[in-house]
Amino acid sequence: MDRRDALAKMFGAKGVRVNTNRGDEYYDSLRKKIEKRLSELRNSPAASKVDIEKVLDAEGLSRRDFMKWASATCAMLMLPASFTPLVAEAAELINRVPIVWLELQDCAGNTEAILRSDSPTIDELILETINFEFNETLMVAAGHQAEEHLDEVIEKFAGNFICVVEGSIPVGAGKEWCTIGAKGETFEEHLLRVAQNSAAVVAVGTCATFGGVPAASPNPTGAVGVQDIIKGKPIINIPACPANPANITGTILHYVMTGQVPELDYLNRPKFAFGYRIHDNCERRAHFDAGEFVEEWGDEGAENNFCLYKVGCKGPMTFNNCSIVRYNSGTNWPIGAGHGCIGCSEPDFWDKYAYERPMADANIKAPTGGVEKTVDEFGLGLLTAAGIGIAIHAFASAAAGKKEEV
Ligand code: SF4
Ligand code: SF4
Repeated sequence: MDRRDALAKMFGAKGVRVNTNRGDEYYDSLRKKIEKRLSELRNSPAASKVDIEKVLDAEGLSRRDFMKWASATCAMLMLPASFTPLVAEAAELINRVPIVWLELQDCAGNTEAILRSDSPTIDELILETINFEFNETLMVAAGHQAEEHLDEVIEKFAGNFICVVEGSIPVGAGKEWCTIGAKGETFEEHLLRVAQNSAAVVAVGTCATFGGVPAASPNPTGAVGVQDIIKGKPIINIPACPANPANITGTILHYVMTGQVPELDYLNRPKFAFGYRIHDNCERRAHFDAGEFVEEWGDEGAENNFCLYKVGCKGPMTFNNCSIVRYNSGTNWPIGAGHGCIGCSEPDFWDKYAYERPMADANIKAPTGGVEKTVDEFGLGLLTAAGIGIAIHAFASAAAGKKEEV
């Protein structure tokens, strides 16, 4: 598949949607706001020397590819198609907004997911043009030099930079499980110092959002997410393990365009990315409805790409757009590759979801609703109950399937 096909596959019309609940007045006012903001950014000095045109050229991508991406991203952000030129301009101006990227208790998997792509998507290329004023994984400076640079950045861009955080914050045992720099600052002190001076905080990956794997039982370091530490600042959570570059780019673009955070769900996740339930956009859903399941690894059901619910898929309880955006340049995603969703974009995912048996095997309460839930309904504490709902449905549809066979 060539790059253009991959892009079309990633950002085709399927799965993306415009928020039709809002009227013309809302969008007229939003357009004016975005135009004003972009005009201010256009007249501000480019903080980064890397511009998108050069990066696209180097990858052999045309302006047409870029505009195709802008159109799809516009839809992903739930904006009308007429906003496409504004999205394109925001992508060109993304290097005007300084970013401080903090690496805390994690595996650097989110950074790696962006850097290791041998066939980068336009989202990944746009991230290359971002003005990283500070990023310990990527920058040359180290030790005292790096610390001095961070102090300078905080002072120079106070109130105007985005603080991106990757990794959890250990607050157990006097908070000294992890320290950083020659002054022995704890991760919590480090985060507080930077975040308090930022315009907004973007927590990237499930460790930074909800504690992730470091917070799994028995959570020896007392790991927590950014929102447990930072108060009084806009916080945007982009969970998943790793976070999808399309969602990172979309969130930063939204901020570049409007100077505000996108609409968020009850877990502070952008609705444009986490308003989708895996189960509702899954290519195996027809098999779920028909009661056709993989019963054990390697069986005939697995060969026929049947539903993975009975071998532990947590797609019915998980909100993320990876079934639409996919990973590895849009090539595939976990369920497409044959393994169930392990709920990596949900809180406590490692303890609650990352095992290969159905949710209904867990010690959970009786169902209070059907299987069709929106993200905010799940926020009312119905996750485990929905697990039972799904199990009942799975059983009933399996029975129906058998009946038809007779
Ligand atoms: S249970 Fe999992 S594999 Fe089955 S349809 Fe739902 S998301 Fe897809
Ligand atoms: S399928 Fe589930 S576990 Fe896999 S990346 Fe998507 S949300 Fe995470």
